[in-house]
Amino acid sequence: MADTENTLSMDKIVSLAKRRGFIFQSSEIYGGLNGFWDYGPYGVRMKRAIEQLWWREMVETRDNVEGLDSTIICHPQVWKASGHLDQFSDDMCDCRDCKARHRVDMMEDPKVCSNCGSSNLTEPRAFNLMMKTFVGPVADDEHTAYLRAETCQPIFVDFHNVRIASRQKLPFGIAQIGKAFRNEINPRNFTFRSREFTQMEMEFFCEEADSMEWFDYWKEQRISYYRGKLGFGDDFMRIHEHDKLAHYAKAAIDIEVKFPFGWGELEGVHHRGVWDMSRHEEFSGKEQLYIDHDNHRKVMPTVIETSVGLDRTFLALLCKAYDEENLGEDKDGQPDIRTVLRFPAIIAPVQAAILPLSKKLSDNARELYNKLNRYFRCEFDVTGSIGKRYRRQDEIGTPYCVTFDFDSLEDKAVTVRHRDSMEQDRVAISELRDYLEKLID
Ligand code: ATP
Repeated sequence: MADTENTLSMDKIVSLAKRRGFIFQSSEIYGGLNGFWDYGPYGVRMKRAIEQLWWREMVETRDNVEGLDSTIICHPQVWKASGHLDQFSDDMCDCRDCKARHRVDMMEDPKVCSNCGSSNLTEPRAFNLMMKTFVGPVADDEHTAYLRAETCQPIFVDFHNVRIASRQKLPFGIAQIGKAFRNEINPRNFTFRSREFTQMEMEFFCEEADSMEWFDYWKEQRISYYRGKLGFGDDFMRIHEHDKLAHYAKAAIDIEVKFPFGWGELEGVHHRGVWDMSRHEEFSGKEQLYIDHDNHRKVMPTVIETSVGLDRTFLALLCKAYDEENLGEDKDGQPDIRTVLRFPAIIAPVQAAILPLSKKLSDNARELYNKLNRYFRCEFDVTGSIGKRYRRQDEIGTPYCVTFDFDSLEDKAVTVRHRDSMEQDRVAISELRDYLEKLID
């Protein structure tokens, strides 16, 4: 029986994530730091796999998208031009009784504290989300700098450097994966709202006249990526069309997914008009127009953005994959519940576990592991009964367990156990790589 939305609680996800080394609270031995999370051994494998998948999809398979890796700290004027220093704030209020702090737009009733029910609240006041630091030895206003609140602004600032170096012409895009920081008033729902997180953003520069076509194209591309590559169906993913648009925008949608705590934004696809490039032209005093040599004219590029949080993708995958399967009764007559993460094989932290049936077969099995590990994310495990090892691999979402038994020495074949069906195939070792490749791709 699948673990339904009603029974799947965030507590189960958080506890499995910690127990199996996906995500830990940052600085836990010091009591933790609210809104900051560390990715453990399996977490980092999967995080890298998601990054690679996105990068391959958005950059490497396209000749009209270039990559960038910019700094986290930029010239403070970048954030003045983008509007972040003046406007990137949320309204917050405090409860005078229980001291809880709330983001006003997220309160069910903005007049009542959701923590203790008191109506003794302070007036809402704007709270800027930019994180500050100082560059150089003097900690004063002149040396104040900011950690980037989104990865896209450096893309706009570097537009011409990238264009010239890559010899791209409009339309083309620039993509970046990197950390972003926001001093969120109320970080919550595990990694969903963190203060330090990773974004994967692509800014596509085009002509105004074609911009709606490109908007529709990217919207469709991103939706089919989630459907095709990550297996998100209509019961788990929905599209939210913005009815209120920023003054410069022509269209915007959010791709939302169903978390145990409700629907939440995963990715935004936004038409940003010429806003970003015009603002950077205004604030830098450097012309940002694109010269269209073919038609002897200058144009300000219009931008279509796709912007997704890596941590939210990770969390969505974790929530979607979590399942508790009832296998009947165990040998003591107790319900036998199998906890399994049904990750798509392409992002699973371990794609194939190599398990010798007995310690005596370790050397032969390790040889196989060394071969396969060059092509897939593999793990070698010899500790405990085979049943316990299968269950452990189920809990970290390993799609295929490869068991090397005594017969393997004779018939040069191994047993491949499939995580989801628990069915087993006997596969010749000489064909194992092709066999796994077909399944994983
Ligand atoms: P929200 O409305 O949830 O605060 P947002 O509209 O401010 O999000 P954007 O500025 O559009 O988000 O950022 C793009 C993406 O970055 C989001 O869709 C989300 O996946 C991710 N993201 C934004 N803020 C956070 C955060 N505090 N923690 C984790 N991921 C985030």
